[in-house]
Amino acid sequence: MATLTLKSEEAYIDQFGPTLNYTPVGGWDSREPDKMVKTHCCFCGVQCGIQLKVKDNRVIGFEPWEEFPVNRGKLCPKGVKRYMQNEHPDRLKAPLIRSEDGFREGTWEEAYSKTVSEIRRIQQSYGKDSFAFLGGASMTNEKAYLNGKFARIALQTKNIDYNGRLCMVSAGAANKMAFGIDRAANPWSDIPKTDVIILTGTNLAECFPILTDYIWKARDNGAKIIVIDPRITPIGRTADLFLPVRPGRDSALCHGILHVMVKNGWIDEDFISEHTEGWDAVRELVKKYTPEHTEKITGVPAASIIKCAEIWGPAKKSMLLHARGIEHHTKGVENVLSYINLVLSTGRIGQEGSGYGTITGQGNGQGGREHGQRCNQLPGGRDINNPAHRRQVSDFWGINETDLPGEGLTACEIIDAIERGEIKGLLSISFNPLVSIPDTARTRKALEKLEYYGAIDFFLNETARFADVVFAGSLQEEDHGTVTNGEGRCIRLNQSVTPPGDAKLDWEIICELGKRLGQERHFAFTDPGEMFKELTAASKGGPIDYSGMTHERVEREHGLFWPCPAPDHPGTPRLFEGGQFAHADGRAKFHAFEYRPPAEDVDQEYPIFFTTGRVVSQYLSGTQTRRIGSLVDQYPEPLCEMHPILAGKLGIKDRDLVRVATRRGEMTLPAQVVKSIRPDTVFVPYHWSGKKAANQLTNRRLDPISKIPEFKVCACKVEKAGSR
Ligand code: SF4
Repeated sequence: MATLTLKSEEAYIDQFGPTLNYTPVGGWDSREPDKMVKTHCCFCGVQCGIQLKVKDNRVIGFEPWEEFPVNRGKLCPKGVKRYMQNEHPDRLKAPLIRSEDGFREGTWEEAYSKTVSEIRRIQQSYGKDSFAFLGGASMTNEKAYLNGKFARIALQTKNIDYNGRLCMVSAGAANKMAFGIDRAANPWSDIPKTDVIILTGTNLAECFPILTDYIWKARDNGAKIIVIDPRITPIGRTADLFLPVRPGRDSALCHGILHVMVKNGWIDEDFISEHTEGWDAVRELVKKYTPEHTEKITGVPAASIIKCAEIWGPAKKSMLLHARGIEHHTKGVENVLSYINLVLSTGRIGQEGSGYGTITGQGNGQGGREHGQRCNQLPGGRDINNPAHRRQVSDFWGINETDLPGEGLTACEIIDAIERGEIKGLLSISFNPLVSIPDTARTRKALEKLEYYGAIDFFLNETARFADVVFAGSLQEEDHGTVTNGEGRCIRLNQSVTPPGDAKLDWEIICELGKRLGQERHFAFTDPGEMFKELTAASKGGPIDYSGMTHERVEREHGLFWPCPAPDHPGTPRLFEGGQFAHADGRAKFHAFEYRPPAEDVDQEYPIFFTTGRVVSQYLSGTQTRRIGSLVDQYPEPLCEMHPILAGKLGIKDRDLVRVATRRGEMTLPAQVVKSIRPDTVFVPYHWSGKKAANQLTNRRLDPISKIPEFKVCACKVEKAGSR
């Protein structure tokens, strides 16, 4: 990983040389900026502070922002290039209206009136719930709140969900089940103070690069690092212990580690009896998961399982961090709960240097799931099925509780319902399901069946090509508001430039549609500051309480951790201090789930595990990062990572073309032969579209609780397709 702590781009080139291909076409824009704007990176959930250089209403470069405490001026390869999306020739600058010959530029009046009349027609013909809304977790807290309000009040549909359904929901559901609240337990500043860290299912150094710095600091302070993954990812290469788990076997591995801990008495019985429930069932469950039995299921040598327990069990302080690797499964919630068992059994949570966190993937992965744009959630993290919560929110909005829709379908279920012909209309914002949802062929068929589709975005993403109307929305640097990073810190985004051409701010588009749908008084916002005031007031007394925050405070204090229930409350960086959990009885809950295999396991016909993930230079469905040339140069196309043993068996050499097939489709791509992956597994990154889309192959089966698809494991076959 290259991190940047330098004052200028020239110094960066001096240090790292031209091999990073960092110089933009046309060279550096060395003009004096009109202003420097302190704001944040638009990509991952670390939300590093950055200063954008602005000249003539264009972002022309950046400088580090060293005072911001999360990253202290450091930025990763994506962060230093994030400004290059501004002024890209593909930037949408006016609404697009579908015509017989494709798209034509239209007026805003056309875009709004066509959309409103289609919403009315579809809902009058098929019912309110026949029109769905899909939001995104890269958007601000203000927009997440607005999306939920728009769907419930203006569209009056229950079918609203968001692309975080493909990301953090297994962790969110498990956190609520175990702790009663959905947030990382510790600030990241606790990481360097710990003695041992388990990193499981997280390609940390590529997906959340600046967090790696915290791990290295912990290691410098003497901490042991344990990495669990089917691939020796860059962070795995520096680990004290690496456990190469077979894809889809994570909960079994936890049970095996806990078995050894119980056997050796590395359990905090006092903490368990005073602060938790459900331990007896877990202790009973793990009895049969001896290291040898666990080795047979997981492929991890028994000696490594024992070693892991020996390092983790008796430690004085510990942190457990995980990401999508254990969450993207049909048993993602069970996997997370099994890892939480490892934490609770030691009592090492709610203390400085001891605790637990899930690493959010998207820029506002945390805040995007808090303010009501999920199908089962109302503002303040309230439950849409809880009568008291429904009353609180409907009273706050001044509507009848009976008019507040109930729980709707999740993101993948909405696409399924479109395919079945039950949902006829869709409005989406900052979501690219054609690339990001498994089984692309089915998603494409569903999109073709829509009677009306409106998409709000700043680039014409692959899904938006199916739209009847594309609204030219806004980039992150064109608006202001707040996001909440992966540690639960709400931070301030400042506006650097205004949208180009005839493009509009996302919230202006949503508010205008809300007004035209007859809900003027609910969508009379003139600024995100007004939305934040309403959001924080709506959250008061809820599980996720922002009511003590203002834009000014958030900016002045370099972020505030929720809960922050009063203007003089300092915020809550560390949860669960004193063993007080957020369940009504104050106790954390153990959960005992028997290991079960993936929805689609390997067999004779499809004998190889297929898994997916990210690369450092790309972000999500690539809508932004595939348009930044120097990021494209770093990893121009998807490669199929495979071990030399597997490659040898199949007669494949590095960069040969290989055909990878699952029961849903096939793709042809170059092989990348590496020793850092299990020999029974291939890995393909998912940032590309069309014939290069990994999600042509993945399995759409869902976790029964979180409704997340099983991106991380299915069965495939691989053969050589040609040489290059
Ligand atoms: Fe920081 Fe993440 Fe942006 Fe990299 S991508 S600069 S780690 S916020």
